[in-house]
Amino acid sequence: MAVVWLDDVRADDLDLVGGKGASLGELTGAGLPVPPGFVVTAGTYRAFIEDAGIDDELFSAVEVDHEDSAALKEAHEAAHDLIMGTPMPEDVREEILDAYRSIGDGDAYVAVRSSATAEDLPDASFAGQQETFLNVQEEALLEDVKACWASLFSERAIYYRNRKGFPHDKVDIAVVVQQMVDSEKSGVMFTRHPSTGEKKVIIEAAWGLGEAVVSGTVSPDNYVVNRETGDVETATIADKKTMCIRDKETGQTVDREVPSEKRHERVLTNDEIARLLELGELVEDHYETPQDVEWAVYDGEVYMLQSRPITTISEGGENDAASDDGKSKNAGDDVIMRGLGASPGIASGRARIVTKLDHLDQVAEGDIIVTEMTMPDMVPAMKRAAGIVTDEGGMTSHAAIVSRELGVPAVVGTGDATSTLTDGDIVTIDGDKGTIREGEMPEEEQRQPVEEARPKTPVKPMTATEVKVNVSIPEAAERAAATGADGVGLLRIEHMVLTLGKTPERYIEQNGERAYVDEIVTGVREVAEEFYPRPVRVRTLDAPTDEFRQLEGGENEPREHNPMLGYRGIRRGLDNPNIFRLELQAFRRLFDMGYDNIEVMLPLVNDAEDVLRAKEHMIEAGIDPDKREWGVMIETPAAALCIRDLADAGIDFASFGTNDLTQYTLAVDRNNEHVANIYDELHPAVLKLIGDTIEACREVGVKTSICGQAGSKPKMVQFLVDKGVSSISANIDAVRDVQHEVKRVEQRLLLDSVR
Ligand code: PEP
Ligand code: MG
Repeated sequence: MAVVWLDDVRADDLDLVGGKGASLGELTGAGLPVPPGFVVTAGTYRAFIEDAGIDDELFSAVEVDHEDSAALKEAHEAAHDLIMGTPMPEDVREEILDAYRSIGDGDAYVAVRSSATAEDLPDASFAGQQETFLNVQEEALLEDVKACWASLFSERAIYYRNRKGFPHDKVDIAVVVQQMVDSEKSGVMFTRHPSTGEKKVIIEAAWGLGEAVVSGTVSPDNYVVNRETGDVETATIADKKTMCIRDKETGQTVDREVPSEKRHERVLTNDEIARLLELGELVEDHYETPQDVEWAVYDGEVYMLQSRPITTISEGGENDAASDDGKSKNAGDDVIMRGLGASPGIASGRARIVTKLDHLDQVAEGDIIVTEMTMPDMVPAMKRAAGIVTDEGGMTSHAAIVSRELGVPAVVGTGDATSTLTDGDIVTIDGDKGTIREGEMPEEEQRQPVEEARPKTPVKPMTATEVKVNVSIPEAAERAAATGADGVGLLRIEHMVLTLGKTPERYIEQNGERAYVDEIVTGVREVAEEFYPRPVRVRTLDAPTDEFRQLEGGENEPREHNPMLGYRGIRRGLDNPNIFRLELQAFRRLFDMGYDNIEVMLPLVNDAEDVLRAKEHMIEAGIDPDKREWGVMIETPAAALCIRDLADAGIDFASFGTNDLTQYTLAVDRNNEHVANIYDELHPAVLKLIGDTIEACREVGVKTSICGQAGSKPKMVQFLVDKGVSSISANIDAVRDVQHEVKRVEQRLLLDSVR
């Protein structure tokens, strides 16, 4: 039998139907209303390749050196062509088509999704590309099933299996074919209050298909229902401007305006809420844990589309780790020195004064690194350390950024920690308050950064404004992705390049251009893979010359009086495009490998000419700016004031780099501690530039975002959401608070609009 119906599938049929098929089967089996469908079994794929005699050829075609991207591409193409070019046996075709014809009226729109049998292994990368085809009818069905089979051999999948030494012939793939529900209303339901764990059901609902609610393009109605009594305690009716529907002509999913009479109408009736409550009880009982359910109402019936467990926020409530605990207040007496609290958390340990790189191996697990300034080579030691203290640097220094990403408490810019402290001293650092005290804190009073204290899969509030995360070191990708952020708003490649220990020019001299491109591909891929398919905005190189000077080859860098105003960002890329071109080649390679979630971001542009020249280079590198998402950083007043010209140059997004925008607007060097007291990202002039730019971008359909540090500050979040920014990218440790802040502001705006 080539297919099995979801009704006949059970959770332990994983080998037959893959992870996705098994979980849908389990829901169906539990008596929950799941849209009808069937699975083309993994055995069908296996028989297809074996009976046609293409299995040996297939598996040997993909045995290639995974670091050789040309070979990888060839392997993918060979496997894909082999599968797509081999006809499906007649009996299998008939069986799949017969099954399709018995769904609905025989001409239903179905979703066709790959469901790999190795999907539930700890490393899901063993599986395929997770191909999904929506709105499929009979004509395309068989080809789409084959395309799902071929997705087992995407470049990404081959790369990972080869890298992990996982045999290709041990992975099979099933294909789920399920009726698409043309929902009139849809949304999500939490069977417990997602933050407090109270026995309340929270339902979010909007008109049309679920995509709009799940992706956050619409603010949904919100209902809080008491599970004991079934009473709707609160119903907040949103202004639902858009909805997602299926276009009757083309069959495609499109966004439409909600008809004016329905915008403020309540989406769910009390009967529908009662039915959802009933299903919520059933699904929670079945899995024995609180669930986060996607549902839809179609033709008067409530359907369940997906269900996954929710982990409630740790006991004691959110944010307890970030709050003042009284003890640290009283500890003022023994504060030896102060600096900037750059990465939250309290840690005690032995101070290790690191003055030279070769002192690094003396840093043991649990030590506190005390150094003038951290450098990329120190990252492995920083990972071992319990805390980090530096003499120099501000909130945007290497030490601050990396320690936040690693989740290690840090105090930076103390002035003279390396001379005040003695190697071996036992100290306690507080990365929130920026203090260093003598002696040790009892272990139970030390605390890890907030993110660590929280569940691995945090409950993410639904917000219309996307909340993303900043990443600078690929090693932090996993931690960043675990925040539930909607993507990466800024991936800086500087840290990857600085880690080479040599200027790009010197590195290329010694290792060749190809090796340089490979380094970027490898670093970016790690993040793009971790987040896939969530978008990752990768910025081309923007390191000031003083950072390059510390590297081998740095002696050739120009000596600049103020590197912040100097040879960096796109101006350097355009002036001497050799290195910039290689970065673009790396992007091109990543696109070719299937990382269509990568977006290109250009740093420090001033005007349309900068953008148009950079765009020419993109085209030369084989990147089609019309097909890829790309945009610019808004870091200079010039860029903010020229935003309409930048939009005309074709950008898709503009992202505020407030670290630079503040320094260039206020004429305050961000690295100069003598003027640090007047460095103010919330200065009215900075806010005016940002506010006006958002307004202009909204008029011309360019997305806006922030990726400077200020995006992690509640006041900036309030200002931006109020102005209608499209997304906010925060530091890893701040993502959760920003998600909640955004939600609060959106709800307030909503209430204001209906009052
Ligand atoms: C900024 O300027 O705000 C920014 C994010 O870029 P960087 O800190 O790397 O200059
Ligand atoms: Mg910048």
